[in-house]
Amino acid sequence: MSGRGRHEKGVNVQVILRCRPFSDDELRNNARHVISCNDQKREVAVSQNIAGKQIDRVYTFDKVFGPSAHQKDLYEQAVIPIVKEVLEGFNCTIFAYGQTGTGKTYTMEGDCKRSKIGPKRDLPSGAGIIPKAVKQIFDTLEHQNAEYSVKVTFLELYNEEITDLLAPEKISRVVEEKQKKILPLMEDGKGGVIVKGLEEEIVTSASEIFTLLERGTAKRKTAETLLNKQLSRCHSLFSITIHIKEATSEGEELIKCGKLNLVKLAGSENIYRFGAREGRAREAGEINKSLLTLGRVITSLVEHHGHIPYRDSKLTRLLRDSLGGRTKTCIVATVSPAVHCLEETLSTLDYAHRSK
Ligand code: ADP
Repeated sequence: MSGRGRHEKGVNVQVILRCRPFSDDELRNNARHVISCNDQKREVAVSQNIAGKQIDRVYTFDKVFGPSAHQKDLYEQAVIPIVKEVLEGFNCTIFAYGQTGTGKTYTMEGDCKRSKIGPKRDLPSGAGIIPKAVKQIFDTLEHQNAEYSVKVTFLELYNEEITDLLAPEKISRVVEEKQKKILPLMEDGKGGVIVKGLEEEIVTSASEIFTLLERGTAKRKTAETLLNKQLSRCHSLFSITIHIKEATSEGEELIKCGKLNLVKLAGSENIYRFGAREGRAREAGEINKSLLTLGRVITSLVEHHGHIPYRDSKLTRLLRDSLGGRTKTCIVATVSPAVHCLEETLSTLDYAHRSK
């Protein structure tokens, strides 16, 4: 292939910037905007005077969703085509990246309690990417004349250790058997990896997936308290694998297998904070490892480097079959508009911009 454009070799990485509205607290305290979004021009401008030095920067992304954008806007403009690709038999990944408190959970999950499918099979307006994608997948599958199966896994990475969020054990046993519950990542001999012992749930309807998601989220919350984990330092990975058996017009059987990975990354502030002074040097190092390696992998893919450093972190090893090649990757970088987050906002903008 000769083209140099990032879509021409099949590398398809889309970087989206989303800025949340002010929170009630910020409004009460008359917080000041330091960034302004121009959704049409796909630009984010930062303007602020820090210690007498004026910062004026403009960043361009593939898409920009300012504070007034709705969940529906982001989903329709950015995610629908990705889910269609998965239903065609390709592996795709969507990441939420950003400082804690900027909207990663809101973007990926939305408001969980209100994101269930109602009796009329419609989702509330606050539903995030995961419930909307699940609904799109089942709506499509149920309306086509083909056999299919859908499997999901839900895991968490903390300090480069993998925990299964779907495993049925009681959390108290998880505490006792903490060492045993850390699942090993192994090469499958075909260039991919498998997580040994990871629960794979077969699901037949969207509502079953919502029950599993709730189970995983509850387990995550309990583990946070009992194991003294901080959710902001965990990466979570929800994967949906779809097999579709179709008959071609020649009467042959065609099997399509696609996977959608939905990843909420650890808060990006972890890259810089929690140094040795907090006695958490290893933790900081491991969180850095996944976030920094992910950045490097994406840059290498976009710039067509020969060597892609997948092996340098568990997260990128896990996602190896879904990053690069004939896959679509979407990074939703989330930021706050407020001045008190400026330092982190600039880091997020730089990280996301480097991924373009
Ligand atoms: P994170 O997962 O990055 O720590 P959250 O998703 O929990 O952040 O968001 C922090 C708060 O801001 C939550 O109360 C969430 O509902 C709200 N929020 C985030 N993004 C938006 C948005 N785009 N529109 C409205 N509220 C948002």
